Amino acid sequence: MPNKSTTGLVDGARSLLRATVGLIYPTLCLGCEVRLPEITDDELPICPACLRRLPRATTGQVSKRLVRLPDTAGVFNELFALWVFDEGGTIQRLQHALKYQNRPQLGERLGRYMAGALNGEFGHPLYDAVFPIPLARRRQLERGYNQSRRLALGMAEVLNDHPDVPQGLLVRTRATRSQTNLSRAKRWINVSGAFGLAETTDLTNHRVLLVDDILTTGATMTAAALPLREAGAMVDLAVFAVVAV
Ligand SMILES: [Zn+2]
Repeated sequence: MPNKSTTGLVDGARSLLRATVGLIYPTLCLGCEVRLPEITDDELPICPACLRRLPRATTGQVSKRLVRLPDTAGVFNELFALWVFDEGGTIQRLQHALKYQNRPQLGERLGRYMAGALNGEFGHPLYDAVFPIPLARRRQLERGYNQSRRLALGMAEVLNDHPDVPQGLLVRTRATRSQTNLSRAKRWINVSGAFGLAETTDLTNHRVLLVDDILTTGATMTAAALPLREAGAMVDLAVFAVVAV
């Protein structure tokens, strides 16, 4: 255990470092690139004006996506999407930063923000667990982290009673191709049956939250929800953006 004076020194060095890094690499708004003052752990690198302009999503926009897939009736309980995806806009830059710029902390920040909005919309629900969509092994190796897991960890910090974020229970049971550039029907064929539980688990009377970054066709989310449903869980869905139909 470091003693108090060492902790003070470390903290001092850390804030000095942060201030120096802030001078060299100031945080810029992902929307308008205005320089932001130092942001807290709960804030996003988006200025208040750009944040207000982001299009809020509705449950209807998510369900419109899901009804186009086979086998989805009754899979999900509540549906939550924070924003509507804006190709070439702030939300796409946020997604890009999260996935490709080695910024796992941004995922946790965004997760905390999502959970605040979800709490407001669903009246502070109580979850037994939060499951991120497991990343394909190769992608995990390339990226070094699973962005959905970072979102889930951030959400769990803010949700009632801080639910578990189990690792290694919901797994990919076979390799799939990247969903990019596949048609809706092909996406479903590609991921259907690609997820399972690593061990027999009884989730009867459990309410769980399944988390991903962007919902495009909903094929991946639905395929990942099925084993949780089969184990008896009630599954809610949360993403930070939905691609509107
Ligand atoms: Zn801005």
